[in-house]
Amino acid sequence: MEVIKNITNRTSLLNVLWDIQKKRRYISSEDMVKIAKEFKMSKMEVEGIVSFYHFFHQSDVGKYTVYLNNSIISKITNYKEIKNAFEHEVGVKFGHITTDKMFGLFETSCIGLSDQETAALINYRAFTKLTPEKVKTIIYQLKAGVSIDEIATIPDDNIQYTPNEDKTIFFKKFKPYLSLKKLANNSPENLIELVKNAKLSGRGGAFFPTGLKWELCKIQKETQKYIICNADEGEPGTFKDRVLMNKLPGLLIEGMLIAGYAVGASKGFIYLRAEYSYLKDTLEQTIAEYKKQSWLGKNIKAQKSFDFEIEIFIGAGAYVCGEETALINSMEGKRGEPTTKEYFPVEKGYLGKPTVVNNVETLCAVPRILEMGVDKYLSIGTKLTPGTKLMSVSGDCKKPGIYEIEWGMKLKDFIKLIEAENPYYILYNGFSGECLSEADLDREISGENLLADHIQFEFNDPVEYARKMRGVGLRSGGSFMVFNKDRDLLQILKNISDFFVEESCGVCVPCRTGNFLLNKKINKIINRHADYNDLVQVKEWSNIIKQSSRCGLGKTSTNCLLTAMLKFPSEFEKGLLAESDFNHSFNIQNATIEYDKIINEIESTYGQSN
Ligand code: SF4
Repeated sequence: MEVIKNITNRTSLLNVLWDIQKKRRYISSEDMVKIAKEFKMSKMEVEGIVSFYHFFHQSDVGKYTVYLNNSIISKITNYKEIKNAFEHEVGVKFGHITTDKMFGLFETSCIGLSDQETAALINYRAFTKLTPEKVKTIIYQLKAGVSIDEIATIPDDNIQYTPNEDKTIFFKKFKPYLSLKKLANNSPENLIELVKNAKLSGRGGAFFPTGLKWELCKIQKETQKYIICNADEGEPGTFKDRVLMNKLPGLLIEGMLIAGYAVGASKGFIYLRAEYSYLKDTLEQTIAEYKKQSWLGKNIKAQKSFDFEIEIFIGAGAYVCGEETALINSMEGKRGEPTTKEYFPVEKGYLGKPTVVNNVETLCAVPRILEMGVDKYLSIGTKLTPGTKLMSVSGDCKKPGIYEIEWGMKLKDFIKLIEAENPYYILYNGFSGECLSEADLDREISGENLLADHIQFEFNDPVEYARKMRGVGLRSGGSFMVFNKDRDLLQILKNISDFFVEESCGVCVPCRTGNFLLNKKINKIINRHADYNDLVQVKEWSNIIKQSSRCGLGKTSTNCLLTAMLKFPSEFEKGLLAESDFNHSFNIQNATIEYDKIINEIESTYGQSN
């Protein structure tokens, strides 16, 4: 194919695959042979990459490819109705394409629209708050030849709450270039000190100190360095970065520029998840405007000796690419598998060069710190987590959407703010987070008095847990999913487990096999076929997966399960064998009690037969 001619740089591989996928609607065996030749790889290696990413296919996915979100918030909304509506209107089941190859129906995990479920992507445009009638209209229009661009819109930002004007950080009025003008009076060292003093830490959920990360990159001797904005917001229930990129793209560009200037990088990338490709135009237009105004490119306005370019890289559907080494592998045209931590990206990152990978929210906080000054920033929030936090809220509440809250807000006050409806359990920080219950209501959303992760998971007694955790902060990555008592906790945990089975990259056995086996155990509990030994094994195996997995996906994949078992033991006990009539462990004596009784009665009535 034309598109793969004369390309030898492996970093362009995913773009080439995307071009073929979009043009032909699948990547054929012949394409892979040609790609292998051009990129000097084996065909098997190309196939390994194609099969790694959800959005690359090896057979036709139809002119209009529907990806329906099957994540838990969609499931508790009207997922089944919408699924049926698509199947009815299109005439095929999910997992298939129509005979005329016009429509293909597929499922996918969270697409960053939990505040507007049930949602689907059609050719990577978002369709939200679907109803059967809406589905009917969409399919009718597409069949009638209406262009998808005419019927798709950028999803609502849905900002529900910001603190008063004096305390808002992200969503206050944005004046383009204001923070960049301050580069004229600040050395890179000053900027790193400023970010350190502001105690900014990674808002993607890892909370690594941002200033320290920048410093570790700056001290590297290499002249070529990179800034990567991690916009692969794949944690189910999280959608704050989507809103930041749509509403404040300039703020993100300025954060990347400042980071580049601080560490000595001349090139930045935005790794945008494919599910957000509808934001690409907005970001590109903003980049073009900053270039036009000479704030990007060669010799930028406030620092004539500083050059900085930004490029957008589209992912291809893999949750694990949110992990920074996996993301870098993906950009280098490889399977997006996390690497061992022989080197940190700040030492050897993208193409072996020092690289800072920062989340969208982290980078957006930087220009605001410059604009308002560190003292003002430190006056908001708590001592260890100053500033505000963006929360993505979904589930059983009256006001799903984005909340900018001051760090330090009590959980019970937050629940009031979002107008949660009879909250019973809360998934805090997405599927890799934890389950919160009534016992956590007095805790505050902050990074104060944290306990080491392993200590938190050592509790067995819910009352003891509640007493010990009272003053322990709840550090938040930003996802907040609320469920009321009518929801089935075990089904929610099964949905989470299905997700991790699907998303494990498979490199380490505990994560790959362990999550698969846990999934079977959860099924067993749901089917009332489990006994206490199963619960003990679930705990033991969960801890093994936590301790022996290579990356954050495996290490956190059982958090929700373990915390749910601690806080909602009765939900699991309901699923035990003792409560069901399932004959789990066959015992010949127990099995023949009734039979023996009848035989004894016959014998006592009629005498023993010979
Ligand atoms: Fe892959 Fe899981 Fe191992 Fe991470 S923990 S590297 S996702 S197998």
